[in-house]
Amino acid sequence: MKVLYKANDKLQFELEGSGQKEIFKELALIQEIFGEAKCGMCGSTNIKFVVRNVDGNDYYELRCSDCGAILAFGQHKKGGTLFPKRKDDNGNYLPHSGWHKWTKDKE
Ligand SMILES: [Zn+2]
Repeated sequence: MKVLYKANDKLQFELEGSGQKEIFKELALIQEIFGEAKCGMCGSTNIKFVVRNVDGNDYYELRCSDCGAILAFGQHKKGGTLFPKRKDDNGNYLPHSGWHKWTKDKE
């Protein structure tokens, strides 16, 4: 089974899976990571994918080109998949769906 999925105006994915469950999983992963259509702070759709390398570690984030807010992604220890950081260290949901302005003392 092949599926063409349009995540937003800019991204389109071709998925392949042997059945509904596999396609469902693929879609869930893509929506989680690539389904973010606009900035959670200002609502702009002018967002881009950024990977920063700091001391040999890659940091994945979405960055708003208009207001400069970012949405950081964490990495699952298993499988190497990403997830958007929408919660704080205590498991509480962050404001603006995790989007925030970069501050120096945060990282
Ligand atoms: Zn913004």
